[in-house]
Amino acid sequence: MSETQTSFTPRVFSGVQPSGGLTLGNYLGAIRRFVDMQNDGIETIYCMVDLHAMTVWQEPDALRRNTRELAAGYLAAGLDPTRSILFNQSQVPEHTQLAWIFNCVARMGWMQRMTQWKDKAGKNQQNASLGLLAYPSLMAADILVYHATHVPVGEDQKQHIELTRDIAIKFNNDFGVDFFPITEPVIEGAATRVMSLRDGTRKMSKSDPSDMARINLTDDADAIANKIRKARTDPEPLPSEPEGLAARAEARNLVNIYAALSDTDIAGALREVGGKQFSEFKPMLADLAVEKLAPISTEMSRLMEQPDEIDRILGDGAARARDIAAPILAKTYEIVGLLRS
Ligand code: ATP
Ligand code: MG
Repeated sequence: MSETQTSFTPRVFSGVQPSGGLTLGNYLGAIRRFVDMQNDGIETIYCMVDLHAMTVWQEPDALRRNTRELAAGYLAAGLDPTRSILFNQSQVPEHTQLAWIFNCVARMGWMQRMTQWKDKAGKNQQNASLGLLAYPSLMAADILVYHATHVPVGEDQKQHIELTRDIAIKFNNDFGVDFFPITEPVIEGAATRVMSLRDGTRKMSKSDPSDMARINLTDDADAIANKIRKARTDPEPLPSEPEGLAARAEARNLVNIYAALSDTDIAGALREVGGKQFSEFKPMLADLAVEKLAPISTEMSRLMEQPDEIDRILGDGAARARDIAAPILAKTYEIVGLLRS
């Protein structure tokens, strides 16, 4: 972690949307790194951002189930509710209260420039929810309501963290204060952008309509092997140097996944698998993925049989989160001139 935040105590915040099952991209790009930061001994706050998920339609029962499944995924991957604060966003109303203030700080042009808004709204922006446009302002509030200094995310969220910084800077300037930290994105590791198994130019996403495009943490060994076997590739054998993957997006993605799962980098992975045909490499990758993901999936299933215990953990986390957020929101209200008696 960088040391630029001199006046703010290091505090980590991040979140995942309960918008479907968890993918290998969510695990390698985000959750596994949440665990590393927790284990580094920094204060860590991790959220299930259910209000963000609602920016596109969610069946109520599915949203409830997905929120609990996401909590199970966090716990199974190694997050510990005694060392990290774990909760779902909607139980801490300070997020949305601060988001309203940020809606009045952020500019329309900033929101409309967001790549994710353009991607997710597609051609029919007039028919997208207002929430989808405003989402990055709520995300800024998620982070800044805790004065979080560091946010571990995948590469796709870089622009939203930059927007969070712009909101903090404008707020501090507008009101002549040094109140919100200028948060640092932490985009590190071998797999900051895991790509779709069907199209090496698209990010692997839990909301992709094609289940074959992603590996879910809950997939069984057969499903993982089948998806990797059918993953799009090219006819060449794997190169022995990373430069050989430059124009081979699909091949690079599979090697990247292999590297991340075996805790090495692309060069390290190619020392092991360079020269192999996909017919040999794909089963190796499938075996490695099953070996790493099966224990998480088994633990998730076990936890999903105890929804009351999950709800208890989230309720307890929400109370602890509010203890931090409420005074920061109260101070914000005071700075902007909102009366509280
Ligand atoms: P959705 O399709 O609903 O947006 P998602 O798979 O993009 O779902 P998010 O909840 O939006 O997941 O993101 C949660 C975290 O996972 C973020 O930090 C994001 O950067 C990271 N992430 C998502 N997809 C990937 C990926 N393919 N590779 C690496 N990190 C990823
Ligand atoms: Mg996303």
